[in-house]
Amino acid sequence: MLPAAARSDFGFAVEHRLAETATIAGGRLEANGGPFLGRTGTITTPHGTIRTPAFVPVGTAATVKAVLPESMAELGAQALLANAYHLYLQPGADVLDAAGGLGAFMNWSGPTFTDSGGFQVMSLGSGFRKVIDMSTVAASAAGDDDVATGKERMARVDDDGVTFTSHINGDVHRFTPEISMQVQHRLGADIMFAFDELTTLHNSRGYQETSLERTRRWALRCVAEHARLTEERADRPYQALFGVIQGAQYEDLRRKACRDLGAMDFDGFGIGGALEKENLGTIVRWCNEELPEDRPRHLLGISEPDDIFTALENGADTFDCVSPTRVARTGAVYAPDGRFTVSNARFRTDLAPIDSGCDCYTCAHYTRAYLHHLFKAKERLSATLTSIHNERFVVRMVDGAREAMADGTYFEYRDEVLGRYYAGRS
Ligand SMILES: [Zn+2]
Repeated sequence: MLPAAARSDFGFAVEHRLAETATIAGGRLEANGGPFLGRTGTITTPHGTIRTPAFVPVGTAATVKAVLPESMAELGAQALLANAYHLYLQPGADVLDAAGGLGAFMNWSGPTFTDSGGFQVMSLGSGFRKVIDMSTVAASAAGDDDVATGKERMARVDDDGVTFTSHINGDVHRFTPEISMQVQHRLGADIMFAFDELTTLHNSRGYQETSLERTRRWALRCVAEHARLTEERADRPYQALFGVIQGAQYEDLRRKACRDLGAMDFDGFGIGGALEKENLGTIVRWCNEELPEDRPRHLLGISEPDDIFTALENGADTFDCVSPTRVARTGAVYAPDGRFTVSNARFRTDLAPIDSGCDCYTCAHYTRAYLHHLFKAKERLSATLTSIHNERFVVRMVDGAREAMADGTYFEYRDEVLGRYYAGRS
């Protein structure tokens, strides 16, 4: 068992349930075959609280690219998520441990997350960045042994763990559930994720079953190693561990994974794996119908505004997303009437802010013409200013959803935001 005193530093309390606060009109309280599961709440960590639903910006290598942590706090980010795989390779978990953990190392005083590294181990290792496919050496079913054309497989899964080749220098490394826990404890984030195997929609049903069983056994090993490390490092702030739900697009596998992991000693859960946009709400809903209601649920890696609303009304409490800064660096900015590219020629002389209704630092001080100029001149400030705006846009949108869930106006809010955002699309 985990030391009780330490564990009491982490908690979650549900405040409002969407199904109770929203006005029942036109059957809207039914989604994907049942009542909406959205809720508001508060996650408590040793480094502060997170009011949910919350968007968690991504700082992969212990930095939100091009943005100061002070700016992230100012724009309303409540927590940041970094990547265990990248920090393990560079600078190494020992450096973060000596610095007092991820938050202290990167000068961020609020709550932090690290993902388990499994996604990067397997996706970078298979040569794909987005479409991930991996298997044991022995697997031969069609679709189970794909790698990106022209790339050599750089990750191999076995029942004990994953052997992978560093994308930085070609060194060979190995992650097991125990090693992932040891690395994440040294990285020192408030919320960590169990080491899981990630599959893709292309894997066969048989492979998904084998993989899910492997992830279940790895989850048990993560819980055991986490308990051992928590005791061994009792002088450190408590780090919460979330189990990761896989199962691809199969309802029975997703529900089984939730029941299996829901019965384990996890502080919360991550919903992972390949999710097709059209099935996102349905899959999140299957999971959240099964998962314990008193623990927080994190949806790993989504991006578009409509996906965000789908996730949170189906019961996701937090979610991370790399898109706001990734697209910002290419000049794409979010606005209430849809995304546009500020580096396009038509903004060369436009002296309006990105969005006159936005309360961010960038919109308060800079024009589209100035941003256009920075992109054309290849000035680095371009990424900083557009990233600040995009992060603020998503934070503010989700803050609005949380407030609307609490006061019973969620569906009006959602329809207004999405109606405007997608109005220009056919
Ligand atoms: Zn702005």
